[in-house]
Amino acid sequence: MNCVDFLVALDALDAQAGSLSALPIAIRHHAAGCPDCRLVLERQARALALCRLSPISLQKDICQRVMTGVLFAPRPQPVMPLRNWLAAGIVLLAAAMVSPLLHDYRLLQADYGNSFIIPLTLVLGAAISLYMLVFVGSHLRDFSTIWRRWLSSHR
Ligand SMILES: [Zn+2]
Repeated sequence: MNCVDFLVALDALDAQAGSLSALPIAIRHHAAGCPDCRLVLERQARALALCRLSPISLQKDICQRVMTGVLFAPRPQPVMPLRNWLAAGIVLLAAAMVSPLLHDYRLLQADYGNSFIIPLTLVLGAAISLYMLVFVGSHLRDFSTIWRRWLSSHR
């Protein structure tokens, strides 16, 4: 069974299957080995659970209903778009590369000789490393998606 067959078979079942164990073995087997289809199955199960809950007005505790609905809320957008991250990285890198050409750099060199070059290089390198760490850390989900697409297209 491939992913398309899985989705067709799952759609044909409609809402009659109440639990995972009630599903046909072929669907369960495919979902066990395919993370994307397993996610579809989990989301469908949660959607069905949400539909089967009693109306909010009859519930004392609406936490379960809210937490089930959170899964279907739109994915929060990053505070800063990827384009701005890349622009900030380019500016940071350009500043590090251009700094030896600046007038102030020559004034520092006249006053201190070449003794400030290593500390300046360390500070700029630390700034670039910190930027890279925050950039990659805040976009792990995007990078993993890109990586999975690249891997699946090169199989
Ligand atoms: Zn699949």
